[in-house]
Amino acid sequence: MGGRKKRRKLILKPKPKIPKMFECPRCGKVAVTVEIKNGVASVKCGSCGLSDEFEVPPIFDAANAYAKFLDRYLEGKIEISKRVTTDSSEAEGESGSLPEELNE
Ligand SMILES: [Zn+2]
Repeated sequence: MGGRKKRRKLILKPKPKIPKMFECPRCGKVAVTVEIKNGVASVKCGSCGLSDEFEVPPIFDAANAYAKFLDRYLEGKIEISKRVTTDSSEAEGESGSLPEELNE
């Protein structure tokens, strides 16, 4: 009888991790998450709240969906719920403070 041991696979493949956070075209923070479910991509920025949903082909991954999200944003197809205040002084103060909630 063979005293053969089953060869164990000891090769650890480092999984190429697809970054799950992308840079937001609106606020510039790397806080955009992409989730694809049933052919629909849900994209949301955890920082400024920019969000969008659109259908994607099955071959799309998060990076593809993010690219489409960027296109849609640049084309003005994304409805922004929060109103951008026209008060420039207020906007200046807002960009000056950096929330530290995204520490890694
Ligand atoms: Zn944002």
